[in-house]
Amino acid sequence: MQTIQGDGFIVTVIKSGRRKTSALKIKDQHVSIHIPSRLPLKLAREFVLQKTSWIQKKLAEQSLKETPEKQFIDGEGFLFLDKKYTLRFIQADTSPSVIKTPLELELHGRLNRLSITTIRATLIRWYKQQAEHYLTSRTAEIARQIDLMPTSVTVKTYKARWGSCGIRGDVQFNWKLMLAPPSIIDYVIVHELCHLKHHNHSALFWQLVEHHSPTFKASRQWLKSNGHSLEI
Ligand SMILES: [Zn+2]
Repeated sequence: MQTIQGDGFIVTVIKSGRRKTSALKIKDQHVSIHIPSRLPLKLAREFVLQKTSWIQKKLAEQSLKETPEKQFIDGEGFLFLDKKYTLRFIQADTSPSVIKTPLELELHGRLNRLSITTIRATLIRWYKQQAEHYLTSRTAEIARQIDLMPTSVTVKTYKARWGSCGIRGDVQFNWKLMLAPPSIIDYVIVHELCHLKHHNHSALFWQLVEHHSPTFKASRQWLKSNGHSLEI
């Protein structure tokens, strides 16, 4: 199957002998281009390039509709590092806690007394703990690779940002990043570490980001389109 790499998305090419014109379709967050069999792929690529902002807008609109409110019920799916885990309630005579298994997030506790607020708070506490561990060690690894060392790494709750970098070299990250793919998390880490050198979003800053994260444009677009779904 042929595909075309777009800016933050992939397009599947579907050829048809009967087709006279090209058309783009977007369904379930999947983009496809339907073209006449004899149309050169180069022209299909140009068509996708021309329609890039339209595709990005449609993808963002669709994913907005597709993110329903969480209900915090047994069997519901929760993302962790881009993988979906099933929430399972397990009766135990203990204060509520979360245990991750290969496929599930088990919430142990006195089930008859657990309110949705408590379940949500317990899950958030667990995500924050994972974030402290994962983001701290991953930041240390990347910092060594690119030789930009922060003075400290902290995990926070932000509504509309993924991280920040203070003037003293302290970096902060949003724990909600733990729902995202690891490659996206790496981009955010690189972004904040590059602020250690450039405390702004100047052209020099973006050059440095691109140097350490060549696919940063796709990652930025991914966050723009999917960021709102990294929520519990
Ligand atoms: Zn920034």
